[in-house]
Amino acid sequence: MPSKCLLMVLDGLGDRSHECLDHQTPLQAAQTPGLDRIAALGANGLYHAGMLGEALPSETAHLAMFGYDRIDFPGRGALEALGAGVVLTPGEVAVLAHFTALEEKDGCLRLVRDVPLATDEEIQMLITAVGKWEHAGVRIRFVPIKGVFGVLVLSGPVCPHVTDTGPMRDGSLLPELLPLAEHATDPAAQTTALSLKAYLSWAFQRLTDHPVNASRTARGLAAVNGLVTQRAGRLKTVMPFTERFGLHGASIASGAVFRGLGRYLGLDVFNPLQTGDLEQDFSASLAMALDALTTHDFVHLHTKAPDEAAHAKDPLLKKQVIETLDRALMPTLDGLLADPELLLVVTADHSTPSSGPLVHSGEPVPLVFHGTGVRRDKVAAFNEIDAAGGCLGCVRGTELMRLILNHLDKARLEGIRDTPEDCLYWPGEYRPFII
Ligand SMILES: [Zn+2]
Repeated sequence: MPSKCLLMVLDGLGDRSHECLDHQTPLQAAQTPGLDRIAALGANGLYHAGMLGEALPSETAHLAMFGYDRIDFPGRGALEALGAGVVLTPGEVAVLAHFTALEEKDGCLRLVRDVPLATDEEIQMLITAVGKWEHAGVRIRFVPIKGVFGVLVLSGPVCPHVTDTGPMRDGSLLPELLPLAEHATDPAAQTTALSLKAYLSWAFQRLTDHPVNASRTARGLAAVNGLVTQRAGRLKTVMPFTERFGLHGASIASGAVFRGLGRYLGLDVFNPLQTGDLEQDFSASLAMALDALTTHDFVHLHTKAPDEAAHAKDPLLKKQVIETLDRALMPTLDGLLADPELLLVVTADHSTPSSGPLVHSGEPVPLVFHGTGVRRDKVAAFNEIDAAGGCLGCVRGTELMRLILNHLDKARLEGIRDTPEDCLYWPGEYRPFII
């Protein structure tokens, strides 16, 4: 039986059928001899990290894939802060924030351009202008992450239970900043909403009047004159991955949110190569994963490439990206399939439709397990349609980690308790009985 697992996550892989692909999905249309070989030798099925139809962001989907319930989710703002190396003290709230182009219309703010192009020098000057704010015991600081993106860290009598202000669609009005309905009478939620609104209003005025924007306007460029916020969060205490599953885990993924999630759950986090050459980068990530498997018994290997191609709303580009990933996989595939110690799992975190207005969509994604003892079904191609004929059925949420534990022969028989902690693996790291 396998003793270690490689979980390969092709972000946003699932898609819809497209006329330009003869009514196939990009994965269906792509030439993927490597992935198809895994499918032919393994157990196939569909996977949804939440409920069918639910459009999940990567971080919520990954939390479930790593075997944690949504109650353990600390909010994306907190994860990005953690991933960027920001030290959050207990109680601090982190909110995703980015510089944007706004205009005032009848006393409301309208999004002109969600992600405006600006130089690093311009962004630095704008951060200096609005990077710190304090009023009535609430302190707010902007921590840059990449380009116009960063997080706002809020200290004082605050909480994460407030609405977003970023509408994500150019031309839309910004939503009002309010406490969430279920926290409407919570003084911390009211204070947070009022303070953050005051800060964002102050930042809009200050940025609008900033010389950087006078210069941009003179050159015919949109003013980078506002900050919009989303997805507030606050760190929680969670059972570390090793204690929960009895597996020493590692994560190879790019992006602050994945680094943050890995750190939050106690996975060792490795940064993949990012040269811009996808085939070379994914090959390097696979080599890194093989290396990590010599010291870890669970390795999460993630690529954002299919998701990014889908966000470009180009089904043909997504098909090409999938084919490139498959080419990168080919040289290591024989070794992966021949290793008797390895359980290989390939899937995605969610579907990302490469047409239409949705950011992500709620269809399930293909899933394949390969390893000694894994059932072998009649599926011979790795895609959303063929996978539905496989023997795994539709796997949901935290069931994925349970299936991984199961195939590593570590699933705890329901009812057995050899440790006080509610660990999911067996045998647990129990204390010996001392006579
Ligand atoms: Zn994703």
